[in-house]
Amino acid sequence: MQMTPSPQDHVRITPTQSISALAHGWRAKCLQRLIRLDVPVPPTVALPITTVRAIAQGQAVDCAPILAQFGASALLSVRPSPQNPDWGGPSTVLNIGMNAARHAELIVTHGAETADRLYLRFVRAYAIHVARLDPDMFDGSSLEDALRAYRDQTDEGFPDDPARQLTEVMRSMARAWEGTSARLLRQAKGAPEGAGLGLLVQEMAQGTGPGLSGSGTIQFVDGQTGQPGIRGAFRVQGAAPQPEAPIALTRRSDAPSLQDSAPEILEALVRHGARCRERLREEMQIEFTVADGHLSVLDAVRVVRTSRAAVQIAVTLADDGVIPHEEALLRIQPRSLSEVLHPQVDPGAPRDRVVQGIAASPGAASGRIAFTSLAAQTFAARGEPCILVRRETTPEDIRGMHSAAAVLTERGGVTSHAAVIARGLGVPCVVGAGDMRLDVRERQLTAPDGRVFVEGDILTVDGSSGEALAGAMAMVAPSLDGNVRRLLGWADAARDIGVRANADTPADAELAREFDAEGIGLCRTEHMFFEEDRLTVMREMIFADSPTDRAAVLARLLPMQREDFLRLFEIMEGRHVCIRLLDPPLHEFLPHTREGLRSLAEALDRPLSEITRRAEALAEFNPMLGMRGVRLGIAWPEIYEMQARAIFEATLDCAARGITVVPEIMVPLVSARRELELVRARIDAVAAAVRARHGGSFDYRLGAMVETPRAALRAGDLAGNAAFLSFGTNDLTQMTYGLSRDDAGRFMGAYLQSRVFPEDPFHVLDADGVGELLLIGAGRGRAARPDLTLALCGEHGGDPDSIAFCRKAGFDYVSCSPYRVPLARLAAAHLRL
Ligand code: PEP
Ligand code: MG
Repeated sequence: MQMTPSPQDHVRITPTQSISALAHGWRAKCLQRLIRLDVPVPPTVALPITTVRAIAQGQAVDCAPILAQFGASALLSVRPSPQNPDWGGPSTVLNIGMNAARHAELIVTHGAETADRLYLRFVRAYAIHVARLDPDMFDGSSLEDALRAYRDQTDEGFPDDPARQLTEVMRSMARAWEGTSARLLRQAKGAPEGAGLGLLVQEMAQGTGPGLSGSGTIQFVDGQTGQPGIRGAFRVQGAAPQPEAPIALTRRSDAPSLQDSAPEILEALVRHGARCRERLREEMQIEFTVADGHLSVLDAVRVVRTSRAAVQIAVTLADDGVIPHEEALLRIQPRSLSEVLHPQVDPGAPRDRVVQGIAASPGAASGRIAFTSLAAQTFAARGEPCILVRRETTPEDIRGMHSAAAVLTERGGVTSHAAVIARGLGVPCVVGAGDMRLDVRERQLTAPDGRVFVEGDILTVDGSSGEALAGAMAMVAPSLDGNVRRLLGWADAARDIGVRANADTPADAELAREFDAEGIGLCRTEHMFFEEDRLTVMREMIFADSPTDRAAVLARLLPMQREDFLRLFEIMEGRHVCIRLLDPPLHEFLPHTREGLRSLAEALDRPLSEITRRAEALAEFNPMLGMRGVRLGIAWPEIYEMQARAIFEATLDCAARGITVVPEIMVPLVSARRELELVRARIDAVAAAVRARHGGSFDYRLGAMVETPRAALRAGDLAGNAAFLSFGTNDLTQMTYGLSRDDAGRFMGAYLQSRVFPEDPFHVLDADGVGELLLIGAGRGRAARPDLTLALCGEHGGDPDSIAFCRKAGFDYVSCSPYRVPLARLAAAHLRL
């Protein structure tokens, strides 16, 4: 029989031995670094990844040469050493070599209690991880019970031979790494198909002895906040009344501590910690034992940390000169920033899930269930946080969404109305929770498990995980604190693609400034009309009988719009502001219920029948493909003219206040050159009229949204009349796939599960299809006009992969909802590092 691995396959870790994370795993490399730093690590042998793989494939193991590396009576541990610490690995097995003879010796040297405890720990671990016996059988059992249970279940006695024990432990760990669930788990964390595992065999430093003995962990920052401070505990061996009871590391007034009992040990740990930090360039948690006053360090791992702590740690390491700024940037995953900017459900709190949907807007909030916008406003008026629960939301729900702490919908996908508005508002949102049953009339929600929730009951919406949870969960608060700001400042210095915000209201613009967006890349002006007083005037405009009447109503909207734009320009203080002319079909501004139509009839003083008839006349079979965007601007040009005039007058007002603005005006849903020509001619005429009337001068830039496949294909035509093209990838995705952005949520889950789509294309840009249209549009646009500005302003603007795509395609900027601006700034920086 071929005996592999051969003795040459394993290496004793010494300061000079050739050890690499690639060949032996990160833990082996890390332990070698500790040894080089003179940290007292017990003798350790590393088995390379190739050897472990051979063991998993069934090759026989000769453990004698490995055992020969250790003292005859040494107990050993086997620890996993995957190539990357995030990829998990099988559990460590301790006390290998324990058998009846060693047990008897230990009774003499350490006492029966310690001897039993060590043996039992090994029997349990071996039974569960190697013999794969049911863990329940060994719960709370005594040593005798455990040995008996092992014999009963396996029909043989517990193995006494250390070589056999070690062989079996290594084989079971090697095979566990190759198991399906371990593979899936690490692949979910980004591990490649061939990810390897090394193993470490280490002499146990028991933490037992007549003097001060025990085991513990220590770290030098808080894992929740990243703030400096000693954290950890020391379990004193044999301390009465409870053996292994943990005590504090540092001095307390009310309890014993390691610092009291052995200040020199704590000092040594602090010294080792400082060296590790400096030389391993990371905050490490150190696992140690003390045996009769003698310190051993068994292992050191990266401190487990929240996203916020990760930022604090990276910035502090960079400030202290331990790592360069670029490395600090690379250590923070852009997506993890969204956790820093929104309250999150306390990760340690138990979760009682009501329903699972699609995570549509990050963060979490708790509140009382409100089934209508009116109920949400009523709760808000009483100062009670509430969760707006709707089948789906429509523009009429905007005030309810404003009032709600979070939104939960039964239908919809990541670009549905609820999702887009919630992200813009920074409100946590879960959409497409199709497994719950909503009875809005009865005002109750039935969870998939049959539980019924009524209005006023308390829910927590976790928009980061896509869950609705019962009750009010404990939260971790958000902030764009000094550390995040500094990190993002470094990101700005590194990146070479612009980041703007999609901002419709002064509140959005304030957020865009707070998050340091370079400007507004998309102001959806329709959102300025959903306030109650504006909505009524808008509806009056829609029901005007003639162009003259319409112009009269628009004249009332003009000062309101002018004020809106003035506020945006002021808040952005001369940064870019790109305003999109009205886009949605007009019926979106009309009431959808009979009650709403009746009160509109009352407000306009017209018969209900007429209001109903005209509302029905505006209805469309497929409104997304109907009279919206530039089509509306051509059919009802007075609206765009009013908006252009408001923009130009606000520009002049700003100039009078010393703020120079070059407004950008964007025309939505264009698909033909002539559309842009017509709109441009009218807007130029409005500009000339405003200049003539007010005697001031100003510049402006006109651009088009590329939201239809034809616009992308004919981008060369559009560029003749556009200073910029901004790809609206929400509509472009919808139209390229022929997939309704409002209805896709119904089957998106099934599509993702069946891998029809690798990702939701409304979330992550479909690089193959929609992406090709972006490349065609960008290429043809720039060929026709080399100085053409290219941008993306769909929801994809906040997605790191989509930002990478845009940068590669030579885009000037991306624009995303304000809360995603920090993420986009960091993701853009990563692309250059
Ligand atoms: C888009 O279609 O990508 C876009 C930004 O516009 P909206 O989402 O308002 O349709
Ligand atoms: Mg659009």
